[in-house]
Amino acid sequence: MTKSGFWKILSLGALALLALLGFVLLRRPAAAPTAAPAGTVVVIDPGHGGEDGGAVAADGTAESGVNLAVAQRLDAILTFWGRETLLLRDRDVSLHSPDAQTIRQKKVSDLHNRVAAIGALADPRVISIHQNSFPQAQYHGAQVFYANGPLGQPWAKRTQDNLRTCLEPENRRAEKPIAHDVYLMNHIACPAILVECGFLSNPEELARLKDPSYQTALAAVIAGSYLQYTNEEGATPHAPQDETGLLLHPVWE
Ligand SMILES: [Zn+2]
Repeated sequence: MTKSGFWKILSLGALALLALLGFVLLRRPAAAPTAAPAGTVVVIDPGHGGEDGGAVAADGTAESGVNLAVAQRLDAILTFWGRETLLLRDRDVSLHSPDAQTIRQKKVSDLHNRVAAIGALADPRVISIHQNSFPQAQYHGAQVFYANGPLGQPWAKRTQDNLRTCLEPENRRAEKPIAHDVYLMNHIACPAILVECGFLSNPEELARLKDPSYQTALAAVIAGSYLQYTNEEGATPHAPQDETGLLLHPVWE
């Protein structure tokens, strides 16, 4: 999505959700407003794409499309809050290099290129968006994974807690370190989270995940969690502040 498409996606419902997030943020103990260090870029990684649809629901819904819908909304909301973002794909494509031929080569190349794009940034933060699936249909609920131990864990916990508070009161899942076989998350050195927004294999959750308003709600919670995490991460003695900190003042005052 282009930045100009922002208002198309950020509907009145989204604004209401942002207001809700403001309420959630306000309920937290007051802390000095700070902004992310200058130069920080939030990389938004919609998992899969193109021939690699990721998990596929019983009705044919591909994970890649749901990932993109949530990621585009997340991009719009973080941009609204003055954050610099890099959305790794804005359509249904694989990011492989032209010399990749087989599906396997395209998948490997796609992941290498995503890692390279992140590695080229001076101070990235990564949010990878995926959907879960399991052979048994009863499992449901969002779960947040993190990379690089203490760099990602507080952010993942904040996001997991907010998903529970705002969207899924019954969700008892806890944040977890990412598995060793998830290539992207194991080949980057920065703070990073991977959000499995829900299970395509659960019919009720699938219906929600396909609903644009729920996609917006997920994005709003993930974005709000990043803003909180940024504040906590930035509240160190030497954290620089820049003008984007002013944008957060109305929320914290
Ligand atoms: Zn996936």
